[in-house]
Amino acid sequence: MVAMGDWRVSANCRNGDPDRLFVRGAKQRAARSVCRGCPVLTQCLAKALDEKIEFGVWGGMTERERRVMLKRRPDVTCWQTFLVNAAAAREVAAVAEAPVEVPAAPLAQPIPLGPVRKARLAPAASQGAPVPAAEAA
Ligand code: SF4
Repeated sequence: MVAMGDWRVSANCRNGDPDRLFVRGAKQRAARSVCRGCPVLTQCLAKALDEKIEFGVWGGMTERERRVMLKRRPDVTCWQTFLVNAAAAREVAAVAEAPVEVPAAPLAQPIPLGPVRKARLAPAASQGAPVPAAEAA
């Protein structure tokens, strides 16, 4: 994650005309495509929400979408903390739900006994203890 102080240097929109993010109405939906995959999307969105910036596309969201978020969550006092924690929670959930890696196939053949193990099993066989067929051979 990029530190808060320098997040703008990593922004997708750092080059090009900045005005393209400050368009009106339906053009904002197209404008926000520049935010797709932006590595500092969380920081950008948090700034816009924390500072209640009303105009332009920030963090991949239009003005209207941010207004909806602010209205839905009036309890959030620090969007930076809220969004970072939400992102961390999603990462933890993704790791927890990741499938456990298992070997591609179980061993098809029993591991052959070496001479030392065969010798150790021999007295047990003479005392009547059962010896697995695979090991007795
Ligand atoms: S999220 Fe969008 S507006 Fe914000 S820094 Fe990235 S590209 Fe720019």
